[in-house]
Amino acid sequence: MQKEVSVARCDTYDSETVKQALGEVLRPVGGLDFVKPGMKVAVKINMVTGKNPDTAVTTNPVLVAELCRMLTEKGARVIVGDSPGGPFRAPLLKGMYRNSGLQITEDAGAVLNEDVSVADAAFTDAVSMKTFTYTSWIDKADCIINFCKLKSHGMMNMTAAVKNMFGVIPGVTKPEYHMRFPDHAAFANMLVDIQEYFRPVLHIVDAVDCMEGNGPTAGTPRHMGLLLASRKPYDLDLVCAHLIGLDVKDVPTLQAAVKRGLSAGDYSEVKTYITGVDPEGYVIPDFRRADSKLDITFISFGPAQRLVTGITRTLLSTQPKVNKKECIGCRKCYEVCPAKAITMKNKKPKIDRSKCIRCFCCQEFCPAGAMKASHGGFLRRGR
Ligand code: SF4
Ligand code: SF4
Repeated sequence: MQKEVSVARCDTYDSETVKQALGEVLRPVGGLDFVKPGMKVAVKINMVTGKNPDTAVTTNPVLVAELCRMLTEKGARVIVGDSPGGPFRAPLLKGMYRNSGLQITEDAGAVLNEDVSVADAAFTDAVSMKTFTYTSWIDKADCIINFCKLKSHGMMNMTAAVKNMFGVIPGVTKPEYHMRFPDHAAFANMLVDIQEYFRPVLHIVDAVDCMEGNGPTAGTPRHMGLLLASRKPYDLDLVCAHLIGLDVKDVPTLQAAVKRGLSAGDYSEVKTYITGVDPEGYVIPDFRRADSKLDITFISFGPAQRLVTGITRTLLSTQPKVNKKECIGCRKCYEVCPAKAITMKNKKPKIDRSKCIRCFCCQEFCPAGAMKASHGGFLRRGR
């Protein structure tokens, strides 16, 4: 397998710029030479809750449309999809495609997925998740292209190639998996299991406008001006992490990949096979995380310190916290919380910290951006 991580400059989502940049970023990783006439290709995008492209929540539709055009010109039959949070229903999907501006992919010859059937998988090589349910539209394809967005993330610190494949899990089933894997390391291993089960043939990252701060849905767009591509998702994520000032120790999915021997986790090594634009000039050292401080869950302790980890984790870890002024009382957080840790009081959410598993579903799906990932939640216990 080609190991290059390709980086290309892409300053805007203007269609001509995108066309040139996509061609440039794909060439070093073999282009689309794997595509044969008649082949069915699934493009797994990041749609989350179907927001306007200007918010930098979703994989930009101009990029997706250009990729679809390139694929259809090769004779491929292309289907574009994602399973956002909440019920996986065709009318809801249609509305999200519309909100995300994704109809333009149909002009490029692609089909937007409306098949909401699910299937069960058994994955004996899995570390965390040996059986699971997934959205079976993906089975219609001969291969998958994983087209993700680079964003901050409340639970995993960063979402790029590896995290994006969680979107093959039906929206209503995702909370169940958060409960099955409440520990962040186990959850990260589950994400790696999904990656290893589906093994997309190609990964592309939209890092033209990234999201920083209260990501992955309510943060702030931050311009980077890059596209990245690779056949190797962990090396690609390592470069993405480097670009936003993170290291392997900050990203649980990378830690899991290193422990499983899927990645050396060594940026200095990966750097030797980066092709195209030198990413160093694009690193954003002050890129804001969902929470600005490192979650203690991810620090590697020695045996002696492990004794105190449970206590310090509770005291120092990142926690969800509602900004009551911004809260519109919609109850979405209450509905999505897999741990039933949220009750509504005077139309505002109240979090029971003893039940909270810090999955950040409430933060991810808050339509007002009122639920934040906040460091030092112990200081605000019960709020
Ligand atoms: S309160 Fe938020 S972070 Fe805690 S378990 Fe519920 S959804 Fe997850
Ligand atoms: S989802 Fe956000 S806006 Fe809605 S009740 Fe919860 S915190 Fe408030």
